[in-house]
Amino acid sequence: MIDFHMHSCFSGDSDAPLEDQLLAALGQGLDALCFTDHLDYEYPDPEVDFILDTKPYLFQIARLQERYSKQISVYAGVELGLQPHLGNFYSSYCKSWPFDYVIGSTHLVEHKDPYYPEFWASHTTRSGVEAFFQVTLKNMKAHDCYDAYGHLDYINRYIPRDYPAFSHTDYMDLIDGCLRHLIDKGKALEVNTGSFRSGLSFPNPGPEILRRYKELGGELLITGSDAHTPAYVGSHFSETYALIRECGFSYLTMYQQRKPIQIPL
Ligand SMILES: [Zn+2]
Ligand SMILES: [Zn+2]
Repeated sequence: MIDFHMHSCFSGDSDAPLEDQLLAALGQGLDALCFTDHLDYEYPDPEVDFILDTKPYLFQIARLQERYSKQISVYAGVELGLQPHLGNFYSSYCKSWPFDYVIGSTHLVEHKDPYYPEFWASHTTRSGVEAFFQVTLKNMKAHDCYDAYGHLDYINRYIPRDYPAFSHTDYMDLIDGCLRHLIDKGKALEVNTGSFRSGLSFPNPGPEILRRYKELGGELLITGSDAHTPAYVGSHFSETYALIRECGFSYLTMYQQRKPIQIPL
């Protein structure tokens, strides 16, 4: 089992030391982990610092790689908060640092994070989700520096409980556009179990989108917990791996020095 999405105290929204996250991964019996701390350039909330201090971050990961080399494979990654106008910025950032793996994520729609209730004050489920997938497709097209797209239906975690629920069928054209783009460009689709913490009973994205991705010819799936604390490292992996198999996939993908490696499930 591989957890290729987790945060540490190098992210503005986590206090977990890198080593505590690694020890949790060992405790869960994981085979490999990749740290993917946040870089969200021009994030609108001044209370949270999402600028990654990249040099000491990579230095500390290298020390852990050495110290734990006999027990677990440790990789260095980053989660980029994409926005359509940041293509050049992120492209030169990624060229400057020796990451193994880069996640591209949509966290912002119209400069607002749907994580916050303020986003929903001016949106219905329909308008919020549509705007989210529209900007996701724009992000995918404006950037080429990512290996996988993170939590494709991230917004589903934060739709207010008293709003109509998300149904993928209402947005299939937009979702198809995103999936086809990833497949055409050889980018992977992440299966993110952070969704369970928000009360969902399936990963982001869920089984319908995973099946659709397979139907369209998608083959590159990568798993991540999005853990910001040790308690969530590798969480819900057994059921998620079973679900991935049920959806027809027989391989997972991981990345080393930005190159995909296929692992049989
Ligand atoms: Zn994210
Ligand atoms: Zn994350």
